[in-house]
Parts: sequence; C-alpha cells; structure tokens
Amino acid sequence: MGRYMCSRSVQIVSRHLKLSQLRVFHITTKDAVTPAAALGVRSISSFLFDKAFVDGQWVTAKSGSVYQITNPSTGKTIGSVPDMNADDTLQAIEKANAAFLRWRETTAKDRGLILRKWFDLTNQNKLELAKLLTTENGKPLKDALFEINNAGEFIEWYAEEARRVCGDVIQSTTANKRMLVLKQPIGVAGMITPWNFPSAMITRKACAAIAAGCTVVLKPAEDTPFSALAMCHLAKEAGLPDGVLNVVTSSRDNAPSVGNTLCTSPIIKKISFTGSTVVGKILLQQSASTVKKVSLELGGNAPFIVFDSADIDAAVRGTIVSRFRCSGQTCVCANRMLVQEGVYDQYVARLAEVMKQELRVGDGLDDSTTQGPLINIKAVEKVESIVEDAKRLGAGLVCGGKRSNKGDNFFEPTLLSNVTVEMRCAKEEIFGPVAPVIKFKTEEEAVTIANSSSSGLAGYFYSQNLSQIWRVAEKLEIGLCGVNEGFINAPEAPFGGVKESGLGREGSKYGMDDYLEMKYVCIGGL
Ligand code: ADP
Repeated sequence: MGRYMCSRSVQIVSRHLKLSQLRVFHITTKDAVTPAAALGVRSISSFLFDKAFVDGQWVTAKSGSVYQITNPSTGKTIGSVPDMNADDTLQAIEKANAAFLRWRETTAKDRGLILRKWFDLTNQNKLELAKLLTTENGKPLKDALFEINNAGEFIEWYAEEARRVCGDVIQSTTANKRMLVLKQPIGVAGMITPWNFPSAMITRKACAAIAAGCTVVLKPAEDTPFSALAMCHLAKEAGLPDGVLNVVTSSRDNAPSVGNTLCTSPIIKKISFTGSTVVGKILLQQSASTVKKVSLELGGNAPFIVFDSADIDAAVRGTIVSRFRCSGQTCVCANRMLVQEGVYDQYVARLAEVMKQELRVGDGLDDSTTQGPLINIKAVEKVESIVEDAKRLGAGLVCGGKRSNKGDNFFEPTLLSNVTVEMRCAKEEIFGPVAPVIKFKTEEEAVTIANSSSSGLAGYFYSQNLSQIWRVAEKLEIGLCGVNEGFINAPEAPFGGVKESGLGREGSKYGMDDYLEMKYVCIGGL
C-alpha cells in the first residue's frame, strides 16, 4: 500500500504549515496511517504521495525511474514521482479494463454515493489540499482553496448527475415493434490534464466518466502530479473500487509515449485532454487510428471588450478577475482588452490604479499574495519576449513589464497601452500577467478583431445597451461568453470552445454525454 514521501520532502512542505493550522482528522482506513496521522492529525504531508496509483495500489515505474517536482515559488524540490512510460501505461489500461467490467454493472445510485463521499472528504481536507496545490503550482492559497472548492463541486455535480442519465422510448411506426435508446458507459477513458488547475481538471473529467460507469487512466501534468495523487487517495478512502481511477505519472520526456499509448490503445474508447492546441492536435491525429471519441479543451485568446456604454468600474473589476487570476495562467483568461475610444483613457487609467493598489506578487503561501509565480522559467521567458515585442512595435508600458525581484519565476503585473493587432500579445495566448489594451471605434470593428483568432474558447464584453448585448453575444465566435462578468465558470454550465479551442463540453448536464454511447434497441415480434 501507499508509501509516503521521504522525510526530507515532507519537511520542505511542512515548513509552511503552522501547528495551529493542523486539525484532528478521523482516520478511516488503515493505509492512511502516517507519523502525523497516527497522532490523529492530518497535515499536507499526509497527502503527499511519491508513487503512481494503479489498480488501487501505490506503484513505482517498471523501470524504477523517478523525476523531481519543484516548487515554482522557491525553486526547491518538493519530492519525486515515478517516471512512467508506455509499458506502465499499458498495464494501467489493462487494470482499468478489468475494473470496467465490474464498474459498469454497478448502479448509478451506488456510483453517486461513492462520489458523494469523495466530495465530503475533499471538503473536509480543503486547506491541506489547497496548500499542497499552492506548493506545486504556485498559485496563491486563496486561489488554491477556490480551486479545491471547484474540484469538489465537480465531484458533487457528477454524484448527482449519475442518476439522471436516461434513455428514450421512441414511438414505433410498426404496431408489433418497440423502439428504445439505451445509454451505456463507453468504456475505459484516457485523460491528460494540465498544471494550471491540477485538481479541478481531474475531477471535471474523471468524475463525469466514473459517474457514467467508465473507468479512467489519467496522466497529470508533469509539474503537478501531487494534487492528482492526493485526489486518488481520497477517492480510495471514499470507497472507489480498485482500478476505476488510475493515475500514471511521467516526466515531460515520457509524456508523448504515455499519450500515444492512450490514444492508440484499442481498449481506450475515449480521450479527454486539456492543454495546448499543439498537443491537442497531435492527440487528435493519434486517436484517429482507433476512431476514438475525443474531447479537447485547448488554448484560448479571449477578447475582453469594453464598449462606450460600459460601467467602467465593473469592467476594471472584471479585468482584474479575468486577466490576473492565477497570474494570467488560465485558458479562459482575458487575453486582449479591446476598449472603445470614448472610454479608452478612463479604462486604462483606472485599471493601472487598481493593479497598483491590489496586485501583490509573492509566494502563494504568504497571506498578502495575489500573484504567484509563473509555472517555470520557460513561461517567464515567453511572457518577457511577448512584452518586448509589443514595446518594440510601439506599445506603451503603463506599469510592470519586467521580471519581479521575488524570484526566478515571478513577473510583474503588466499593462500595455496602444496595442495593435499585429503585436504578438494580441495574437498569442500570453499565459501570464500582462494586459494589452487595443483601441477600437465601432462595434463591428471590435467583433471583427475578436473573431480574427483561430481560437474560440472564452470571451467577455461590458455594455449597458441591451440590443448590443444580444447582438455581440450572438456574433462572437466563442464557446463561453461573459457579459458584464469576468468570472463565469460553474459546474452547472457547459465548458468548452469552438474553432481550434476544442471539441466537446465538460460539466453541466451535457458533461456525461461524451462518456456514454447510445444504443438503439428495436424489439420486434410483439
Ligand atoms: P503546457 O505547455 O501548458 O504544459 P501542454 O499541452 O504541453 O501544455 O501540456 C498539457 C498536458 O499534455 C501535460 O500533462 C503534458 O505532460 C501533456 N503533454 C505534453 N506533450 C504531450 C504529447 N506529445 N503527448 C501527450 N501528452 C503530452
């Protein structure tokens, strides 16, 4: 059963945890015994696992290889996990397939009850899970807590949705026939998740599959495997049977072979991926070999339009939430601010003021931090070069614009004015704390600029004109639209993009569709 992290790693993480923040936790399974837990106390170190999770067991890579995970705030090693490859993945697929034969026979009600228990355990351990998340991802603790809440909401949502899967009885045109549609679990699902939401992306995908009666082989992002493994621990504690959820960890070097194994395996019936457009296209191609169902949630380049009629304070507030949440590292982040000429100066001045007042760069575990580090130095270099490109082409630097003195991976919240559509910051997904502001004259021009991207995930606009609200909401080529609102994520709402931002929808009453096959049954001779 599970071995816990070596004491050195535990110390590194535990340093951040004050004794007063530890709480008594009732240990329900014998495998949850750790030195801390044995004393009746559960700390984040008791959620730190250095093994992958396959068939309900904590396992090493067959090769014995491991790789290190570092804290992006401090650059220090948190610990290591197995560096698994195609062989390990094949084995996990076999185990998931064996589990599927049993799991699909369970009732939706029983699946829902296990998910519900998992949700309760997630809630009970929010703070510890959030601290672990901050330690490996860097996001401020309150953002991490928000994510854990959100991760829990997806578990809860699918616990409830499990029982609401209904087939159809169709009116037969022939008196002696009856026509029905059954909804059945599709089979073993392969999943690959990103580092920016290391917990919520796991539950948004895996719980839909599990509720439907599918089993899962999931590869978390190499930077953030610990949050995924902690979730496995709680799922097991909630009573999820062995083999239903399997997590295969791998370094970036092995990610392509793990991904290829998932996509080309005839056992895997469905691939769900959240990540970059480049990788999404590779997986889509690979999945063609076995004609798999594929869901992709890929990059965005969200326009954030502020019309002359907008409430500017509300628009600035929305910009802070949408652009700077998680230091700008979400795929629904406002990427390009398009502001109408009548309110342009006012918006830029107010945004600069609020950014200076409210945004604080630092280690995510410090209370005052609103802006954690970027995930790694490559991300910092990319943001830096995007800002340099804009400055070279004539953008005005209103604030920020450089690395922060807080550490290698930190970048100052940056505001660029007089941005034009030729600049990289208007064309590429920045994935950093940079707000480029473009001036436009007419609604038509704003919509044209907004739709000029090959991406179509989220988009936002601010207007007090009801006709304009309808017109623009209908014209924007996006899957998610915030009107006078910068934060629109909810488990009840369908999440996904159009154009090159992806395929399929997650969450909502539609979220389980991708994990269900429809079978038409015609009963004759009646
Ligand atoms: P990012 O650049 O933000 O890390 P990626 O799309 O590269 O976004 O990564 C998202 C996820 O895809 C991660 O889990 C990563 O390990 C995985 N990944 C990266 N390259 C491949 C690949 N060629 N095949 C399968 N998975 C991959």
